Amino acid sequence: MVDQLIRATAADGGIRAVSVITTSLTEEARQRHKLSYVATAALGRTMAAGLLFASSMKRPGSRVNIRIEGDGPLGGVTVDAGLDGTVRGYVTHPEVELPPTANGKMDVGGAVGHNGYVYVIRDVGFGYPYSSTVELVSGEIGDDLTHYLATSEQTPSALMVGVFSDTQGVAAAGGLLIQIMPKASRDETLVELLESRLGTLAGFTSLLQAGKTLPAIFDELLGDMGLVILPEVQLVRFHCGCSHERVLNALKLFGAEELQEMIQTDKGAEATCEFCSTVYHASEEELAGVLSDLQKEVVSG
Ligand code: ZN
Repeated sequence: MVDQLIRATAADGGIRAVSVITTSLTEEARQRHKLSYVATAALGRTMAAGLLFASSMKRPGSRVNIRIEGDGPLGGVTVDAGLDGTVRGYVTHPEVELPPTANGKMDVGGAVGHNGYVYVIRDVGFGYPYSSTVELVSGEIGDDLTHYLATSEQTPSALMVGVFSDTQGVAAAGGLLIQIMPKASRDETLVELLESRLGTLAGFTSLLQAGKTLPAIFDELLGDMGLVILPEVQLVRFHCGCSHERVLNALKLFGAEELQEMIQTDKGAEATCEFCSTVYHASEEELAGVLSDLQKEVVSG
């Protein structure tokens, strides 16, 4: 099924549910960054969560930035997702691989690390972005971000994210977020009921592989609770806003002396966007243009 996000409500608006399929975009990230299996799982889970988090924002142009910094060998996991359905991200050490855990699962917690922090920034496009930090719970990402939502955003939430890869690449990826809205959050039994139902689900990627659609998954969870599935199916995709022009502009940060050296010694420069691994080449002439712009700025500034 094509990558997509759908929204639903239940219990007269007391429950908000969002679900996303991210199989193709996770495969694209895997190929772009040459991710190992465990790195694909870590980044894929975080990208699905990013899209789910961004989906609740209201103002067009809103984005969520999630950074997971653990003490494991993978280094940091960084994701930037928008309400518009675009997402991009990277891990510090994409080549790190770990053997599966004793029960045959990807050892994402071992790769990310069990100690560290989750940083989340919500940016609505004006004013100061809302940012918050919580400690890691397990490094498995789903648990860590559920904990973040409960403590930092004070919204009781159940989050499931998953990535399943085989030797061909990513076979299924996506996630599901169910949140209890303030008008219903005093109802403790509702939270418990939803948690127990999620606990009985086989795991998000297994559901997808069994051929379940997003509406069918919602129906299984919330069908007897006044489920209303919103008609819009939003397409989601991997997208990075970097460009040759932006990269050239960023080269100014090196300063005149280093630019001079890039022109004379290296006869050009190469820069890689960390979010999408696109490599940009700047010619001698382009670097000379950057240098002259920089010098003009220095004179006028
Ligand atoms: Zn990029």
